[in-house]
Amino acid sequence: MALGDGVTVRVDLNRIRSNLEAIRRRVKCKVLAVVKADAYGLGAKDVTDAIDDLVDGYCFFTLEEVHAAKIRPRSRKLVQLLGPPTSPNPNDYLALKTNPAVHTVDQAAALRRAGPALAIDTGMQRFACPPRWIDEALEAGECPAAMTHAVRPDQARKLLELTAGRPLFRHAAGSGMLDDPTAWLDAVRVGLAIYEGAMRVSTPLLETNSSVGPVGYGGFTTATGHHGAIGVGYSHGLRSGPCVINGRPSRILEVGMQTAYVQTSGSDRAGDPVTLLGDGLSERDVVAAWGGPPQQVLVQLARLARTTGRPIEYGRFDA
Ligand SMILES: *Cc1c(COP(=O)(O)O)cnc(C)c1O
Repeated sequence: MALGDGVTVRVDLNRIRSNLEAIRRRVKCKVLAVVKADAYGLGAKDVTDAIDDLVDGYCFFTLEEVHAAKIRPRSRKLVQLLGPPTSPNPNDYLALKTNPAVHTVDQAAALRRAGPALAIDTGMQRFACPPRWIDEALEAGECPAAMTHAVRPDQARKLLELTAGRPLFRHAAGSGMLDDPTAWLDAVRVGLAIYEGAMRVSTPLLETNSSVGPVGYGGFTTATGHHGAIGVGYSHGLRSGPCVINGRPSRILEVGMQTAYVQTSGSDRAGDPVTLLGDGLSERDVVAAWGGPPQQVLVQLARLARTTGRPIEYGRFDA
């Protein structure tokens, strides 16, 4: 068995569908699926194919991502960009029926024919139009939509205030604001909430050993008296934290460049899968060890498949 090549990333597209169905039942507005960064690593083409009937549109970060996902002509749904414009030519957006996001008067004027959404600053202070330029930018771009990157519901309400009285399609809320109806506006833009629980990542134990005295770089000791090694390390994006081996909660004890130590029991054997996400281990469990946002866990663990050269498998977890 070659190092690294045993990582299996499996994505359950039906789980993504049921996550979306639950969101649809809950919110009384349109639902835009955020599929930027290759659908958080889960694969934008397969994900968009699986959910097209359940969404009102998609959000990508750049035009290049829209192109790579081959969303046109597969889908006829709205495609909205979230990032700053990467082309000054409206025809580039029109060719992919994609609405850019703009945040300056000049960008709005240049991309007017592509139906730009004005990204308005409500506190993030990045790629966003300051309040004093809103009227001028909306007019220069004849913008059909206004959005803000919000992390709190009051920022969504501020978007509403700043654009009051105008006939605009407005959106602000991501997954973190699904429980606050005042933040929903005309649409929610959901990423994390549609992917949670939909990805399982595992890699086989390459060997198991009885621990004798201090082990590894830092001289750790095991609670079970046994440890094993897996063929992924920090060069693949792995970090210390929880894992599941043969149905039992365990730990990734120490991460090296291309391998890592895990705690095993006496009955675990080389070849047994070590689950890094899934099998009861959630994104939030991993975040408790890693810190940072749960989105990072998805993107980083999905990347394990790519750095180790195996394509993502799509299907049910029990299949
Ligand atoms: C990524 C992103 C989202 C989606 O965030 P989640 O918390 O993953 O739902 C929404 N809006 C903007 C502007 C984003 O960049």
